[in-house]
Amino acid sequence: MSKTTKAVVKKQAKTKASTTKRTANKSVSTNFVYAFGKKTDGNATMRDLLGGKGANLAEMASIGLPVPPGFTISTEVCGYYYDNGKTYPASLSKSVLKAIKQIESQLGKSFGGRSNPLLVSVRSGARDSMPGMMDTILNLGLNDVTVEGLAEISGNSRFAWDCYRRFIQMYGDVVMGVQARSEEEEEPFHEILEKMKRKLKVETDSDLSTENLKALVDQYKSLIRKRTRSAFPQDVFEQLWGATSAVFSSWRNERAILYRQQYAIPAEWGTAVNIQAMVFGNAGDDSATGVAFTRDPANGEKVFYGEYLINAQGEDVVAGVRTPNAIAKLADELPQSYRDLEKVRNKLEKHFKDMQDFEFTIEGGRLFILQTRNGKRTGLAAVRIAVEMQRERLMSQETALLKIPAESIDSLLVPVFDPKALKAAPIIGKGLPAGPGAATGRIAFTAATAEAETRKGNKVVLCRNETSPDDLKGMLHSQGILTSRGGVSSHAALVARQLGKVCICGASEVVINYDKKTLTAGKVVLKEGDYISIDGSTGLIYKGMIESADSEVKRVLEGGLKANKSYTYELFQTVMSWADKHRTLNVRTNADTPAMAKQAVAFGAEGIGLCRTEHMFFDGERIDIMRQMILAADEVQRRSALKKLLPFQKKDFVGLFKAMEGRPVTIRLLDPPLHEFLPHDDVVRRQLAEKLGVPFDFVIDRIKALHEENPMLGCRGCRLGIIYPEITEMQARALFEAAAQVSKGKKAIKIKAEIMIPLVGFRAELADQLAIVHRVAAEVMKKHKVKIDYLVGTMIEVPRAAITADEIAHEADFFSFGTNDLTQTTLGLSRDDMGLFYDQYQSKEIYNQNPFASLDQTGVGKLVELAVERGRQTKPNIKLGICGEHAGDPMSIDFCHRTGLNYVSCSPPRVPIARLAAAQARLRNK
Ligand code: ADP
Ligand code: MG
Ligand code: MG
Repeated sequence: MSKTTKAVVKKQAKTKASTTKRTANKSVSTNFVYAFGKKTDGNATMRDLLGGKGANLAEMASIGLPVPPGFTISTEVCGYYYDNGKTYPASLSKSVLKAIKQIESQLGKSFGGRSNPLLVSVRSGARDSMPGMMDTILNLGLNDVTVEGLAEISGNSRFAWDCYRRFIQMYGDVVMGVQARSEEEEEPFHEILEKMKRKLKVETDSDLSTENLKALVDQYKSLIRKRTRSAFPQDVFEQLWGATSAVFSSWRNERAILYRQQYAIPAEWGTAVNIQAMVFGNAGDDSATGVAFTRDPANGEKVFYGEYLINAQGEDVVAGVRTPNAIAKLADELPQSYRDLEKVRNKLEKHFKDMQDFEFTIEGGRLFILQTRNGKRTGLAAVRIAVEMQRERLMSQETALLKIPAESIDSLLVPVFDPKALKAAPIIGKGLPAGPGAATGRIAFTAATAEAETRKGNKVVLCRNETSPDDLKGMLHSQGILTSRGGVSSHAALVARQLGKVCICGASEVVINYDKKTLTAGKVVLKEGDYISIDGSTGLIYKGMIESADSEVKRVLEGGLKANKSYTYELFQTVMSWADKHRTLNVRTNADTPAMAKQAVAFGAEGIGLCRTEHMFFDGERIDIMRQMILAADEVQRRSALKKLLPFQKKDFVGLFKAMEGRPVTIRLLDPPLHEFLPHDDVVRRQLAEKLGVPFDFVIDRIKALHEENPMLGCRGCRLGIIYPEITEMQARALFEAAAQVSKGKKAIKIKAEIMIPLVGFRAELADQLAIVHRVAAEVMKKHKVKIDYLVGTMIEVPRAAITADEIAHEADFFSFGTNDLTQTTLGLSRDDMGLFYDQYQSKEIYNQNPFASLDQTGVGKLVELAVERGRQTKPNIKLGICGEHAGDPMSIDFCHRTGLNYVSCSPPRVPIARLAAAQARLRNK
């Protein structure tokens, strides 16, 4: 052990003494290091502790796959590291030393030794893979002495120096922070490398000679000295701990935080660190490195998919430094290795029973596997792989259902380019189809521009030579991503697949010039801001804007395409029928018009859970009558206006009842504050006064009288119907008249109407409105001599309603949780006014996710649970549903299932997602 190492270890031991107690309280195990190789401590089930990468390395080692030996420092150490001022448990350095010794003896190499030096990689690895978000360092253990040793033992000094320059580059970047200082600046190491390549007029890094590489090493070292005022460390243990700390620290870098936000990964999980003996894909022309998928992750087809580079190291393939070859070509270049790889492909799929994304390296013709994980895939691929693997008996129906992220169903339903418009559009280039779908937008050359343009309301396609993890935010904001470099496992492709973004990568004829801000494809030159269209299913790039059209599934559902003509539809139908078999939660829709209702029924909606009647008043001449009603000076005037509104409202209800063909329909009475219907500018106000034959001043006075400081908490909801009972009366009459009409005659439909009173907080409020509804119902039924099946209930959307649900349940036949308002009122936070602070909240990880998008289960959810419990105390059979935005969110749906609701009601396009999510909730909570 060198002097520096001893110093490091001692320093750690000292800081530990004061903190061990705290860790002991948390009952953290004393074992922090888990080996894999000849002796393997871990397995695939230990992802929480070992991270996904570490757990699977252990698993692969124990089923006999060729994995270079190494060990994993557990995620508990990451927790310790952050809890204790970035220090380590006292016993760690000893365990690490022991684990290094084990590798040394397995391979007959020595770490820091000159004659046969052991080099290692130091790799991050969280519980869920976060590709490219955290850091990895390769070739660690090289210094000015060991590099000579490596050159001698390999008989290949070019190779040794290539490893050394790669190591300094990575270490300098990741550990010592020598990086580009702005988005426009090139990576400094990369820049030096490019400069040298230009000077020597060589194409790729593999053309550099030993002497060139030695010079490069010198230049790299002086760059580090210039930037950091310290030297690149020669002590291998100092290197090891520096790299380990850098990997732990990368858990909290900006892009990792953003990524966790996107995928709701808790900050507490932490990353593990994997330290593994290096194998070398850059050891000559019978060496290679690559990434492969057991199936196509873009469209799900069962084909071997992936790419590799001869004489290169891992990062090269992903970073898009050289454009890699498609995996099929390996069969010609290194036939035996290709056959070995095919065997591994099969073994991995059979063992892990899911599509695998794995990394391999071939060193002198010998194959090594460096990583495997369940491959990230597009929504379309997720569905196809699950369905086909179930048919191949690799998984059960239940597992297949759980394997499909519910949101993925959406990618079978998103619009495609309109076939006619597509034929007419000029093709300007082609790349690799990496994320299926159609995207049209203005060209943005930087992530920052993409974000800024989107905030202005423009749609953009992010066009870059290649993307890096720092572009994540810009990618999120784009309709699609186009890169000129990099293959199907490049960063751009990977992220696009995961985000469900349309993506084309490696479009090598496309030249992007960041300085001039142009994109050139053949003779066509496009500028930033010009329209471009990309088809991520075919890889074709088009100039200009292209109209979109309905997806195949939608065309089949609406009768425009035969079912047997579309494999996508077959996949959709298969998954939906499985889902319906397994779910207990009903799925309804929020729809205000017959067209919306019909669309939802085609998607499988089993009823309407929320019809917002106010939306019916904004149309054409109705708005004027509505305004007349609002401006009325007394009840007589108001009743006369309402009388004119009634036929419109009745017609709407007839349409809805017909569209729903006997399924339950929940109609909510008028909810918003009245001044929402009144005009804001004086010209329109004057016109209104003329139209209604009242003085302009009268209009102004009424508007003033209706003004509220905080309309969200003012005269709205049932309060309106209580002060203007004639409104409730009109709405109830329109509804029952419509029901009476539809339930008679030749095409009679059996009506199931559910009338919903909004914003109730007191039992007496509901009782007041109920009396009107029942009276009108009785009158209409008597008049038309029909019996109409109806329920009256309320929304639970203020905390008081939830708290007093036992009282309110005496009056209500059903509760529907209006979780938008319930979230607003519980958090004391208006959804429309989050903008000012939400970004900060996100970066500080205060909200795990947007509480308006996914139900705040620990807060708002408690109120829902309380209301369910108290409601059922009073009325065991009370019907329970949810109609807030959350009803379309899979995590919230899981909550609704667990809480025992009867149905969720979401917007029509989310109905298929909700069906799948409901089935998953049942399977998960069985
Ligand atoms: P990420 O999690 O970002 O994929 P990895 O830890 O997998 O990062 O490492 C990045 C690349 O380095 C991989 O492509 C892998 O092939 C390569 N690599 C990692 N460890 C080794 C090793 N021991 N020998 C050779 N290559 C390695
Ligand atoms: Mg990897
Ligand atoms: Mg509401």
